[in-house]
Amino acid sequence: MDDCLFCKIVRGEIPSFKVYEDEEVLAFMDIFPITKGHLLIIPKKHYKDLLSMESKVSEAIVSAGKKIGEKIISELSFEGFNFSSNQGKAAGQEVFHVHFHLIPRKTGDGLKGWPNKEANMKEIEKIAEILKQ
Ligand code: 5GP
Ligand code: ZN
Repeated sequence: MDDCLFCKIVRGEIPSFKVYEDEEVLAFMDIFPITKGHLLIIPKKHYKDLLSMESKVSEAIVSAGKKIGEKIISELSFEGFNFSSNQGKAAGQEVFHVHFHLIPRKTGDGLKGWPNKEANMKEIEKIAEILKQ
């Protein structure tokens, strides 16, 4: 895609700090890191979101995430990481070239997780029934 920010990074038209590359996947540092070491893993081919991405490409992304995640822990002394992807504007997606955030984590780093909510078993069961079909 001509005017896609991440396609431009893949083509080298916009500079980035690359950390991993293979046939399908590119990983580079996020320019506005949530924690030190925050990086993005993307398919080199343009897909706007996870739903439009081929399964073999998602496998390649998860495999790259595992390799980089291991290094984040062994080389940079983090204790874990969040591996997540925003799908759609309502979920916080701003760049519509699918990407996975790898966010290094340490105990007490101050980054808040999801808020706790009350368990409504009837509602949970109802939604599970719909999704099962
Ligand atoms: P989203 O909100 O779409 O899930 O995440 C987009 C991510 O891209 C954000 O974390 C943002 O900091 C990052 N980002 C935006 N522009 C650039 C850029 O020009 N270079 C890099 N490396 N990251 C960017
Ligand atoms: Zn793109």
